[in-house]
Amino acid sequence: MAIDYAKIGLKVGLEIHQQLNTKAKLFCSCPPALFKEEPQITFLRRLRPTQSELGQVDPAAFFEFQKGMRILYEANRATSCLVEMDEEPPHPLNMEAVEVVLTAALMMNMQPIDEVHVMRKTVIDGSNTTGFQRTCIIASDGWIKVGEKTIPMQAASLEEDAARKTGEEDAGKTIRYRIDRLGIPLIEVATAPVIYSPAEAQEVALAIGMILRDTGKVMRGLGTIRQDLNVSISNGALMEIKGVQELDLIAKVVEYEVRRQLGLLQVKEELNSRGVKAEDLQQEFVDASAVFQQTKCKVIRKAMDKGQMVLAVKLPKFGGILKRELMPGFRVGTELSDRAKFWGRVGGIFHTDEMPNYGITVEEVEALRKTVGAGNEDAVVFVADTSENAHDALKAVVERAQEAIAGVPAETRTAKEDGTTRYMRPRPGAARMYPETDIPPVLLTSELMEKIRANLPEPGEKKVARLMKEYSLNEKLAKQVVDSGYAALLENIVKASSVSATTVAAFLTETLKALKRDGVQVENVADEQVLEIFRAVGAGELAKEAAADVFAWLSKHEDKSLNDAVENLGLRLLSKEELEVIVDRVVAENKRSIEELGNKAFGLLMGAVMKEVRGKADPDLVARLLRQRLR
Ligand SMILES: [Zn+2]
Repeated sequence: MAIDYAKIGLKVGLEIHQQLNTKAKLFCSCPPALFKEEPQITFLRRLRPTQSELGQVDPAAFFEFQKGMRILYEANRATSCLVEMDEEPPHPLNMEAVEVVLTAALMMNMQPIDEVHVMRKTVIDGSNTTGFQRTCIIASDGWIKVGEKTIPMQAASLEEDAARKTGEEDAGKTIRYRIDRLGIPLIEVATAPVIYSPAEAQEVALAIGMILRDTGKVMRGLGTIRQDLNVSISNGALMEIKGVQELDLIAKVVEYEVRRQLGLLQVKEELNSRGVKAEDLQQEFVDASAVFQQTKCKVIRKAMDKGQMVLAVKLPKFGGILKRELMPGFRVGTELSDRAKFWGRVGGIFHTDEMPNYGITVEEVEALRKTVGAGNEDAVVFVADTSENAHDALKAVVERAQEAIAGVPAETRTAKEDGTTRYMRPRPGAARMYPETDIPPVLLTSELMEKIRANLPEPGEKKVARLMKEYSLNEKLAKQVVDSGYAALLENIVKASSVSATTVAAFLTETLKALKRDGVQVENVADEQVLEIFRAVGAGELAKEAAADVFAWLSKHEDKSLNDAVENLGLRLLSKEELEVIVDRVVAENKRSIEELGNKAFGLLMGAVMKEVRGKADPDLVARLLRQRLR
């Protein structure tokens, strides 16, 4: 059923984080690069909640701490130093990054602030070795045009990226983070919550992405841009959705979130009409292990064999509610399960709305209902784990069920690849920022601002017109090049090689798009390597038909060179002498045809030679040699 987004009062705000392609990280001189090899250094830390300047422990931070986590950090020497390890104070702010943010901010009509103050934002999920993320506002109060609509832009900030999670151990009690990503500069731009439909959210994100790319200083590829969405509907709640990685997914994420909230509002009405009150839901947990002594359910069997227990709780009058679908493959039961996983560290929960299932029999379900004193109108949730985990899990389940009676709880959620979202953590409190005393403020002088203003990138439309004029590209191709963000690379290639702009442009747009469709990781190939490919094409060392194969090979062999690719793919061009031998042979083999056809034999011979040397010789050279020989 189509949703009337205006009627339900949908409001979306976007927060876009994009990694900057600067020479160094934000607070040290390490390169902003990731590594794939085994780490050279690892160290273990346990994080504590930080006392903020206001003397309060942030509630969100405290909750994270309650989980009793240990963090195992991984590093190598090429991509991190003592700053990322929090063994050395941060160096002064990277001015190259400040200039990129100022450039983007001016393109979004924002007002730069006078003086940049680095602040600390409490983060204690372990993704920052310090326990906080450094961030600074660079400009505020701007606008961009998207179609006919003016979208107010709230602010542009510069932030350090966090370490990236690479795994978990000890049933989630130890988390592994790699600190190569920590400290990579991020620009963060936020819109006001004035977006009123899923499609519009995607359009605005696209427009912002284009402006950021126009600075020529942002990274490309999956994982370099992350979109956070603030989504709310009337009567629902404000949801913070983190980490949408694909632009194309934004509309779907918003739509699913709206459906989820509408579904939760229906659940609330249903529960209210059934007369359920929050106080009816009690944290009365019953040991139901006896029910499952002979069970065929593998999960429960495994837990029992380890000496763990089955703990159950009754949710009065919740019968049938937990199986209601809120998003594809996501039910009210999933809401409870996500909370149980987060707070109770359990693998998941069972509930009577999905029974009999998973090897649990009708008889076991009946016995379970009896054990907890539940009737058919009630639901029973049960979990098999250690006593501590099981209690924490069911406590979270009861709290979530109580919230269902009130409606939609405000949460921080994380976006999945299929567009659905999952519970991530409670919404953080407001008092999360305090000044970073290790870094002096930076004055944005009028000289600096003049320099930025004088070097603003050309807006998209102007660039299209210029590419058409200077490089004789047709309008479609020029537009595609600008949209792809490859305009600067195109110009560099055309200047450095004698290859025609149209050939290069078609490669950077159509060919790369096709390669991407075929699963080639195009972002693995650096601009410099693409430039080299075309330099070789221009110099007659590589057939232009072979460029795509070379590119695809390089994407899979990141530490290899163009020469390696040419060698491995057998694409080395034949020398004139080698070609002459082949031409002579083909002519000799076709002597009779030549005598019969005379000059008309050229096409036939050309085809025969090219069949042997395609991708290894320039067709023009082959034709020249063949004509000479025929004469
Ligand atoms: Zn460093």
